[in-house]
Amino acid sequence: MKFKVVLLGEGRVGKTSILIRFCKNTFNDRQQPTLQASYLDRKVTIEGQSVSLSVWDTAGQERFHALGPIYYRDADAALCVYDITDGDSLDRVKKWVQELKNHASDKIVIAIAGNKIDLEKRRHVKKVDALALAKSVGAKHFDTSAKLNKGLQEAFLHLAKGLIDAKKKESSGGGGLDATGGGRGRGGRNRQSRTIRIREDSEDLTEGQNGGGKKKSGCC
Ligand code: GDP
Ligand code: MG
Repeated sequence: MKFKVVLLGEGRVGKTSILIRFCKNTFNDRQQPTLQASYLDRKVTIEGQSVSLSVWDTAGQERFHALGPIYYRDADAALCVYDITDGDSLDRVKKWVQELKNHASDKIVIAIAGNKIDLEKRRHVKKVDALALAKSVGAKHFDTSAKLNKGLQEAFLHLAKGLIDAKKKESSGGGGLDATGGGRGRGGRNRQSRTIRIREDSEDLTEGQNGGGKKKSGCC
């Protein structure tokens, strides 16, 4: 199974760093603003099911408010990222989620990442506000740090698990998932209160961490 996952969020929140950390297991304190739309592939195994995630990064257009729906309209999942040290970036996540609901598939699986938790002392976003936003849009929230490699596996595996579940429901004749990753169709209730058990296949993860995802470029 192969799925397209897009990274969304204000410029400088850490999207490119998340992509590079998740797919190549490296981090650069001076990450350059992305110049070209591109994606990296990363294979994960969940409960014996191998899944390939194509994780798409923006070309930096978001800094000029010029990121069009063409970037995310055929996405299977989205990770909406904000920076815990930047209050405005959480407001922007709210707008991205709205845009996804308007322009993306109604089956898209969404998660929210509060990035840079290694900078907790400089936190400007109240955790309670972020959790309230996540709850209001029916998405799961993850605390992440691309720098320390925290929370990223969990976030991507959660998305992959939501996509697999949707696929299974679809092939068994049921409806797909809505943006909550748990309900059926628009307005379905989220199932996040249910414990999701994800067994990672360490071999595949190691392979990915060692650069299993091959850098490819793709125009958005
Ligand atoms: P993008 O514009 O959203 O793609 O953000 P970048 O990935 O280019 O990151 C912007 C800046 O934030 C860079 O200087 C990164 O090194 C830094 N950065 C990204 N993630 C983290 C993190 O988790 N912790 C810290 N301390 N810095 C980060
Ligand atoms: Mg970038």
